[in-house]
Amino acid sequence: MKKLIYLLGVWPILTCAGQAADRSSFDPKVTEVWEWKPAKVTPGKNPGDAPSDAIALFDGKDLSKWTTLAGSDASWNIIDGALTVTKGKGDIKTRQTFGDMQLHIEWRTPADVVGEGQGRGNSGIFLQERYELQVLDSYESVTYSNGQAGSIYKQSVPLVNACLKPGEWQSYDVLYTAPRFSDNGRVIVPAYVTVLQNGILIQNHIQILGTTEFKGFPVYRPHGKASIQLQDHGNPVSYRNIWVREL
Ligand code: MG
Repeated sequence: MKKLIYLLGVWPILTCAGQAADRSSFDPKVTEVWEWKPAKVTPGKNPGDAPSDAIALFDGKDLSKWTTLAGSDASWNIIDGALTVTKGKGDIKTRQTFGDMQLHIEWRTPADVVGEGQGRGNSGIFLQERYELQVLDSYESVTYSNGQAGSIYKQSVPLVNACLKPGEWQSYDVLYTAPRFSDNGRVIVPAYVTVLQNGILIQNHIQILGTTEFKGFPVYRPHGKASIQLQDHGNPVSYRNIWVREL
């Protein structure tokens, strides 16, 4: 690590010097990093499988890692390994809190299509309980673009519509960097997020502007680590194979 820090420090000098100097006498070992060894992680067997260092949040069997927003045991239905929004039970959130993370989550809107726009297969994944990655049936249903599936709700339109048909399982792979706040609560660095839907890039390192707001504009309020929250929007959207890696 010391060598890495040293290299970062001398890099501008080396870069400037290198532009003019003959590099033939430069020892290539100077720019090699040996002390810092990345931890070994074993990938899952199939795409979407959790790697060896992931935390499984829902493996198809129980909801022990989830609570209601009030903190009591979560009680959405689990049928055939799928966790389904149970209307009126409210949002659920993970017991464990997270900051920077890699999240994998699979979701399915109902095959029996009911409703239109925001009323068709609506749920959502709130990163740190505040920033909603929209879940919606947007296969053929039209709504405002910054509210369709894959949007950061009312903030960022997905790059493309990568939705599968209602009733089919889809995936989000999310790379999230939490916001940083100063001691007096000001934003030092905002949150950033990258999202792949069904393997297709739909949000490319976009800056999150603040909390998801249905009315009005986003705003940042300081917070630390927080849960992953799933939305009960009254539609029976299902989830499975949810895992996270803390970064
Ligand atoms: Mg939603």
